[in-house]
Amino acid sequence: MDAVTEIDPTSPFELSEAQRAIAEMARAFADARLAPHALDWDERKIFPLDVIRETASLGMGGIYVREASGGSGLTRLDAALIFEALATGCPAIAAYISIHNMVAWMIDRYGDQSQRDRFLPDLVSMKTLASYCLTEPASGSDAAALTTRAQPDGDEYVLDGTKQFISGAGETDLYLIMARTGGSGAGGVSCFIVPRDAAGLSFGANERKMGWNAQPTRQVVLDAVRVPAANRLGGVGEGFRIAMSGLDGGRLNIGACSLGGAQKALEATIAYMKQRTAFGKRLDEFQALQFRLADMATELEAARVFLWYAAAALDRRAPNATSLCAMAKRVATDTGFDVANQALQLHGGYGYLADYGIEKIVRDLRVHQILEGTNEIMRLIVARGLIADR
Ligand SMILES: Cc1cc2nc3c(=O)[nH]c(=O)nc-3n(C[C@H](O)[C@H](O)[C@H](O)COP(=O)(O)OP(=O)(O)OC[C@H]3O[C@@H](n4cnc5c(N)ncnc54)[C@H](O)[C@@H]3O)c2cc1C
Repeated sequence: MDAVTEIDPTSPFELSEAQRAIAEMARAFADARLAPHALDWDERKIFPLDVIRETASLGMGGIYVREASGGSGLTRLDAALIFEALATGCPAIAAYISIHNMVAWMIDRYGDQSQRDRFLPDLVSMKTLASYCLTEPASGSDAAALTTRAQPDGDEYVLDGTKQFISGAGETDLYLIMARTGGSGAGGVSCFIVPRDAAGLSFGANERKMGWNAQPTRQVVLDAVRVPAANRLGGVGEGFRIAMSGLDGGRLNIGACSLGGAQKALEATIAYMKQRTAFGKRLDEFQALQFRLADMATELEAARVFLWYAAAALDRRAPNATSLCAMAKRVATDTGFDVANQALQLHGGYGYLADYGIEKIVRDLRVHQILEGTNEIMRLIVARGLIADR
């Protein structure tokens, strides 16, 4: 994939030609390789590893991993375009690819050269797929309270604990584990790269859940898992900061996935309203319903522009980027869910049937308001920034 320039500064609201081409390429992949199978994957709980790996040939295994490290070297804004487009085909698959990218970027950003050389080629080519492991059974929102321990033992660490709700777990190859190496709180956490075949690593059952059925969610159990000290990412005590900085981009991507799912639901609704009649008129001839479509499109566009703005802030490492990413995640995921839910309503009873694909989008987008930090925690991040500024 060619590196893409930033938004044209003479016209900050216009995407460059290369950015439009990237979005079209991702949409074409979503239309051809994801959308036709999305309902089946959801119903049969299939995690389509081969199709996910196909995205590597499009440069999506390391979207914002630097080119010097073998990645595509694209911007966060480019990534937002890609994830929105992929999510029109299947939000659950797009969201998993985002998690993989988050881990690949963290290794590129915080790893030493030997870690980059060891892990990135296979991550970028997606020979190796990754999972991000922060949440535990007793600590979700309060992630810094995690209790998984990593005990140094010679030139190794021994990890013990349980991670909860881990996306891709059991089927992915590499686990980025946040574990406690010091005292309580964020400063006592370090980050470790654990391969799936490590002795003592096991997985819970695939959780039965409302949506995101095209990717597994499992517990990751660490029972005296030994990893070389060379698998610690970053310094001792830096793990929480690393985990949080990965989430800034992850939140943008999840927001983009919500926009993509909602965009697809809106497009399907417009097509449906053209052919469905009631009271002797097509649905799209009722002005009340036209206004509803107009509001859905307006709100999606507003969320999209805001998400791009936050992505550009993260690209230039603006001091308020974390806060903007949190704002954008909340706005995009709330808007995306609301628009998809309205699309379901405009389909009447058919929206509730699986065959129309809308209820699946609603179910998939619901969890985006919960994970990568709940939308309450997004408000907490924004509020902390406001109060600290005083
Ligand atoms: C399908 C799925 C996939 C996931 N994938 C991953 C993954 O790959 N890796 C990973 O590490 N985690 C993953 N998660 C975990 C996810 O990030 C957590 O579920 C989320 O952070 C919330 O934590 P919790 O479920 O423990 O809720 P809790 O923290 O128990 O929160 C319960 C409620 O209280 C609210 N709340 C908590 N504290 C506050 C506060 N201070 N102020 C206001 N409200 C508050 C929350 O917003 C929420 O509404 C996944 C979750 C799901 C459902």
